[in-house]
Amino acid sequence: MKKVYLDHSATTRMDKRVFDAMMPYFRERFGNASSVHGFGQDAAKRVERARGQVAGFLKCDPEEVVFTSGATESNNLVLRGVTAALGKNGLEDMHVITSRIEHDSMLEPASELERRGIEVTYVDVRPNGVVDPKSVKRTIRETTVLVSIMYVNNEVGSIQPIKEIGHLINEENARRAGGAGRGRIYFHTDATQAVNFLDCNVGLNRVDLLSLSGHKIYGPKGVGALYVREGTVLAAQQLGGHHEKNRRSGTLNVPGIVGLGAAIGLLDPETVEKNVIQIAAVRDLLVEGILGSIPDVTLNTDRQVSTPAHAHFSFAGVDGESILIGLDMEGIAVSTGSACASMSDEPAPALLAMGIDPALARNSIRFTLGKNNTEAEIVRVLEVLPPIVKRLREISPAYRT
Ligand code: PMP
Repeated sequence: MKKVYLDHSATTRMDKRVFDAMMPYFRERFGNASSVHGFGQDAAKRVERARGQVAGFLKCDPEEVVFTSGATESNNLVLRGVTAALGKNGLEDMHVITSRIEHDSMLEPASELERRGIEVTYVDVRPNGVVDPKSVKRTIRETTVLVSIMYVNNEVGSIQPIKEIGHLINEENARRAGGAGRGRIYFHTDATQAVNFLDCNVGLNRVDLLSLSGHKIYGPKGVGALYVREGTVLAAQQLGGHHEKNRRSGTLNVPGIVGLGAAIGLLDPETVEKNVIQIAAVRDLLVEGILGSIPDVTLNTDRQVSTPAHAHFSFAGVDGESILIGLDMEGIAVSTGSACASMSDEPAPALLAMGIDPALARNSIRFTLGKNNTEAEIVRVLEVLPPIVKRLREISPAYRT
């Protein structure tokens, strides 16, 4: 049975070119990038090349790129590191703005900040899963120090108006610069799900901090980066060897960093455009096929405002988990939501924030497509899925036609 992988928001298969770039750094060129000798300097040079590749993609200075273990760490570092640095500078009242649709690696450290007495506002989204920049603007107070809004939501794929939010924060900062005392607002975006498809130019988007992850872009797991604009306050949260210019200690994951650089290096504008067109065509085939062959289905992804990767559905009356298992038995991999939250019974907060009924949210399946999916694979899904849903509905007390 040929397997079909439709869970690219969870992780991607490493591109062969990335794998090839990494290989020498496991055995032949194994030096510690902090060592003074030739082995170390060889590794250090290669790390700097990778840093340049990331900086080239973000259009920033290589010095502004901090390598981390992934987007979870980058997000934690932002929330804890910015507030800790401001706290050390003597700031007491702090207010942070984020959204209700963020990944758990933002929401959990955000609630930790609340427990420490920092106020956090979670802005709502429209039913299409998009934050209204006006609601961010309305929420800003004199005590606001940090705004963090993700670039693309991992559940439904909705693209957030990062540029508009960046510009309005910039205006607010300009206003503050003329006034009394208060420092500026820092703007962070979790771009983990955006890098494959969208412009992450940090200057144009006016972001001060940006998180990304290797394994979502056909690169390795356990490596990511945080862009930190020069002049941004950030207290290291992991102390030790003063790596990454004191921003993140720990021996550098040289093969991982080489892989991250190689993966991001593959994302030139022409390739991105080609991927977008191809993935959107395959995704649309899936969407039209499901809507046309299965009754009582809701498409929760608004394709007008989303990346081409996502197609998130609710199948009335059947548990998403049961559909997932049915498809898995046929070798087709999907998810009921983000892999990190899949251990919990609760529907993803993002779906509830979009106003989706909690019962219907539990009936959800997330398909996320990637650059290697084919139309033939979708034809297979469309053969297998309708009978699975039909069978489950026949035994479901929750489903009434
Ligand atoms: N943010 C978003 C939006 C994500 O989708 C993920 C991965 N599920 C993360 C952060 C965490 O990334 P990592 O796996 O690199 O820790």
